[in-house]
Amino acid sequence: MKTIIEPFRIKSVEPIHFTTVEERETLLKQASYNPFLLKAQDVIIDLLTDSGTNAMSTEQWAGIMRGDESYAGSSSFYHFKSVIQGITGMPVVIPTHQGRAAEKILFTHLGGKGKYVLSNTLFDTTRANIEYSGAEGVDLLCPEGKQPSLIAPFKGNMDTTALENFIGEKGAANISMVIITVTNNSGGGQPVSMENIKAVSGICRQHGILFFIDACRFAENCWFIREREAGYKGWPVREIAKELFSYADGCTMSAKKDSFANIGGFLALHDEKMAEQFMTTLVITEGFPTYGGLAGRDLEAIAIGLKEVMDEDYLLYRIRSIEYIGEQLEKEGIPFIKPTGGHALYLDAAAFLPHIPAEQFPGLALCAALYVEGGIRGVEIGSVMFGKYDSEGNPIPAPMELVRLAIPRRVYTQSHMDYVTEVIVDVFKKRHAVSGYKIAYEAPFLRHFTARFEPLL
Ligand SMILES: *Cc1c(COP(=O)(O)O)cnc(C)c1O
Repeated sequence: MKTIIEPFRIKSVEPIHFTTVEERETLLKQASYNPFLLKAQDVIIDLLTDSGTNAMSTEQWAGIMRGDESYAGSSSFYHFKSVIQGITGMPVVIPTHQGRAAEKILFTHLGGKGKYVLSNTLFDTTRANIEYSGAEGVDLLCPEGKQPSLIAPFKGNMDTTALENFIGEKGAANISMVIITVTNNSGGGQPVSMENIKAVSGICRQHGILFFIDACRFAENCWFIREREAGYKGWPVREIAKELFSYADGCTMSAKKDSFANIGGFLALHDEKMAEQFMTTLVITEGFPTYGGLAGRDLEAIAIGLKEVMDEDYLLYRIRSIEYIGEQLEKEGIPFIKPTGGHALYLDAAAFLPHIPAEQFPGLALCAALYVEGGIRGVEIGSVMFGKYDSEGNPIPAPMELVRLAIPRRVYTQSHMDYVTEVIVDVFKKRHAVSGYKIAYEAPFLRHFTARFEPLL
């Protein structure tokens, strides 16, 4: 088989600003060792997130010019709506400025004290919106999804036995909905099988519980179904997506992921009565229903991006580019979550730096080392992000110490990925010299964004 090449040519380029190891040591120190506080121009390869960092196509840029900025009834909205209706089969389409705005509307109406929202794994903004409404979010991930080094095809699946037990225990009336995240972002970008979606949907219907999909990475998930699930080989991704959405009552999506846009989101559903309530909140918080917090040009770019993302040549390249880094790391015995996910590779920092205890933040230490060595910015998903304190102020570590390297869509080439691999390998060779960190300042909530650190030398 020949090399799988990037299925695009580069028409517009953005220069990368190079820095030396010595400069990066100073820059990181100035950023108090927190990669979130670095300036983007001081980063060589930015793998902080795949959210809103997509490269748009020539068609999308043309769509930006065609965008209809009419306040009401913009033709860009009708384009956006018809594309989403075509993919999801859902008649009601509500545009929002981001995915979390769709979540806010959904849980303002369907959350509330005493209610439960069940998921494979809730993304952090989804959980925050559920909890803000007074409801409780519960993750019921399948057992395979909890073992980082276990190779299994659908580690994002929901545990259907746990779901049935939960319904039996708490009663269907207290469960406002089940929402499955595809792919499972917080669980390593692992896919959910069609069989699992169908089973969860069946259980929900049997008990009269609403079933939604957090569809941020639906196309990547559909690609995994095509490659890994019996009966879908060679299917057009569009058909797989159609079946996937056919099991749901509604969906939320951040257009900053699988629609190649830099901003946007939406909420789509079948129930027009329920949608009337949502529209009231939409008008108060986002805008008139035919733009919902977005410019006409954004609606246009999203509509075009949603069609492009289901292209099989693109998805082959996309999924393969992440798998490719994994293969290189595997040869060197570098620990990461297996198999590689749809949008990111997750290094297992606890195994990478076993001499650094959780209280000294091995994930942060690895992020810092990758930045100094090669100007790569990843994100810690471990005890900085999810660590807590007990009643005596002793640290309670997170269940895993990970570094996520999220790959922006259509932005980097294979040589960039080769460079990333080389930097990781170089850090691995010097890993014994990497030391831990302590917190010098932290905010009471979401401390990872603004915390300042000091190295423990
Ligand atoms: C990014 C994301 C969201 C939130 O979307 P925003 O556009 O960032 O508000 C929700 N769910 C998942 C799975 C995501 O990845």
